[in-house]
Amino acid sequence: MQVKPLCGCLRRPRIGWVIALLGACAGALTASGQTSDVVLPETLQGYNLIFINIDALRADHLGCYGYKRNTSPFIDSLAAEGLLFEQARSNSTYTRESVSVLFSGMLPCSSGAMGWYAQVPETVPTLAERFSAAGYETVFLSNTAVLAGLTRGFKTAHHLPLHWMLSTEGPKLTAIAMEHAKKIRNRPFFMYLHYFDPHGPYEPPDDLYLRFADTFYPNPLHIFDDIRADLNQLRKEGFGPGDPRFEDTVIRYDAEIADSDRSIELLFHALRAYGMLEKTLVVIASDHGEEFLDHDWVEHGWTLHEEVLRVPLIFWAPGKMPAARVKASVSVVDYYPTIARLFGLPTEGSALDGEALFGPADSGLRLTPPSRPYVAELMLQERAMTRSVIVDGWKYLAARKRFTPAERPNEVRQLEEVQLGLQAGTIPMTDVWGPPVYEELYYLPDDPRETRNVLDEQGAVRDKLRAILEKHEKTCRERGIETPPRQEVPALSPEEIELLHCMGYF
Ligand SMILES: [Zn+2]
Repeated sequence: MQVKPLCGCLRRPRIGWVIALLGACAGALTASGQTSDVVLPETLQGYNLIFINIDALRADHLGCYGYKRNTSPFIDSLAAEGLLFEQARSNSTYTRESVSVLFSGMLPCSSGAMGWYAQVPETVPTLAERFSAAGYETVFLSNTAVLAGLTRGFKTAHHLPLHWMLSTEGPKLTAIAMEHAKKIRNRPFFMYLHYFDPHGPYEPPDDLYLRFADTFYPNPLHIFDDIRADLNQLRKEGFGPGDPRFEDTVIRYDAEIADSDRSIELLFHALRAYGMLEKTLVVIASDHGEEFLDHDWVEHGWTLHEEVLRVPLIFWAPGKMPAARVKASVSVVDYYPTIARLFGLPTEGSALDGEALFGPADSGLRLTPPSRPYVAELMLQERAMTRSVIVDGWKYLAARKRFTPAERPNEVRQLEEVQLGLQAGTIPMTDVWGPPVYEELYYLPDDPRETRNVLDEQGAVRDKLRAILEKHEKTCRERGIETPPRQEVPALSPEEIELLHCMGYF
């Protein structure tokens, strides 16, 4: 595995990591050579953790991942001082499933945290419980209500809005985070922050929109009400790259990213003023990406293609964590064991599906890429049920339930009407373990955009990857995970019930 030199923002000179051991401006250093060169002199025991999850942020829309627009100057500056993983993926493209993977260290079908109301089962110790048991303050702050019921183990949990489709709330989340930071500044803490700005609808502040456009587009389309609902008609009219309505949509998404970037910069200024950054690891991450017609559709939570799987991952702890870009493929399911390893937390009682990204070295910890195949799952009975696996650049996808892009607008309409009680009926249940109804195979090094399905030409590769997924499914079934008869609403606090009610869930 190669570690590429830093590019872009700071353009610091390449200096051997050994100097970091001397404590001299370690954040500016570039690890060179192999992945094994990324070494931490010691664990982060006693450090704080601030985990920043930015919802629906696809990695390739950040400058530090090569994007053409200046969406994220502050995150780019953190990336230049931190450890950036060039190939990080989520294990689901639906928010509740992905965050459940993060908090449990288990894949959706492995823990049973799957579906519209996915939540970590009571028998599975959460990351927050691990920190709490180790004496940490634990704070969960989100500017979306969509994570109601996923806060087990956090001493303090606060969902900002009373409805979920809200933009430009990032500064408020930062303000609340600053209040909480002041209260817990003298104790070790784990703070989870969930910024929602890039998630649809895309309604950014005017000044950030004008960072990327000369004037306001006069007739913007709403991602859900206009685009998702009428995509077939829009495509006939030429909606796509080059069409001003499409370009405006992407600009507004980008400006929402810039809004989160600005909110995080404000947070950093405050934390620095409180003296809280010296012993803190900050992780910048996302729960999944976002599609803009890459595969003839928009938003996320419908497929497991790369545009909705690839997410940013940056570890920032200057003086402790070297500055480097890592090519090794990692995924959200690895974060729990990695954080446990870094902070010296026990993992007994957990059946972790991921691997710690740092292993023991002669002194301290050394970056160790995961050896297990990468697996992702999307288990939304209402939309799509599919799994994917990547081995040696080959990506195999097997869907149990799938609607074509042309079918989706109608499916969305019916689903929403059933959920809101406007139409009688139930969502048809599909067997989680049933046979695939649609399979795809791509070779990512030659076809990173997944445009040429070579399933029939590469039978041996298909069989090998199919067998890996079948083994994973067998393991899950042996754990007693079954197709739920219906999507169960999780046990919630009165506040969370109110939040989900406001979201139109029931
Ligand atoms: Zn999400």
